[in-house]
Amino acid sequence: MKTIGLIGGMSWESSVEYYRIINEEIKNRLGGLHSAKCLLYSVDFEEIERFQAGGEWEKAGKLLGDVAHSLEKGGADFIVICTNTMHRVIDYVEEKIRIPILHIADTTAKQIKKSNLHTVGLLGTKYTMEQDFYKSRIESNGIKVLVPNGAEREMVNKVIYEELCLGNIQQSSRDYYKMVIKNLVDNGAEGIILGCTEIGLLVKQEDSEVPLFDTTVIHAVAAVNAALEH
Ligand code: GLU
Repeated sequence: MKTIGLIGGMSWESSVEYYRIINEEIKNRLGGLHSAKCLLYSVDFEEIERFQAGGEWEKAGKLLGDVAHSLEKGGADFIVICTNTMHRVIDYVEEKIRIPILHIADTTAKQIKKSNLHTVGLLGTKYTMEQDFYKSRIESNGIKVLVPNGAEREMVNKVIYEELCLGNIQQSSRDYYKMVIKNLVDNGAEGIILGCTEIGLLVKQEDSEVPLFDTTVIHAVAAVNAALEH
């Protein structure tokens, strides 16, 4: 089994999910007392969020690059960045290491292709929904990506930073997300990417009439696949 290097803490609410899913998946596949070999380096999210808000992506990237380097030195065979948004800085991280990074958008696109869908809606932080680094990576797989309108993006983003990343799950926010999902479906989305690793804490499959692609689950399971690959 390979050792997974997890860059977490963005936020820790979702890193807990990664840790749980990865270990459950290893247990289900290998049985007995098997559990995942992994290293988790959990950052201080306040620091990262300030870089994001200030547009200081290079600084954030270099910080995560140093984290990845520590994980490599500690024995990680590959890296999993436990957030969609921070894939924005993957180039800076790759510069500092020799081991591969399992890209969250690639694993998600693979899953969407398996479901044979051609148009999906994307929910995530404003950076993920509005900047190109994520959408283009999905779209390079021949999948069309729709995003909510401006006011909806603002609110979806606000819920992530002001509630979900603080472990605060509100029914009113769930209802809002359901409405946004419905609007995306009305505009042609055949599935919805939960493109922020905390959204799965709020929205479940029963909240949507179309398939949901929870990036936390998809990425964590892909990490297990990679860890068990020979
Ligand atoms: N975990 C979130 C994501 O998947 C948002 C927090 C962050 O900005 O990293 O994008």
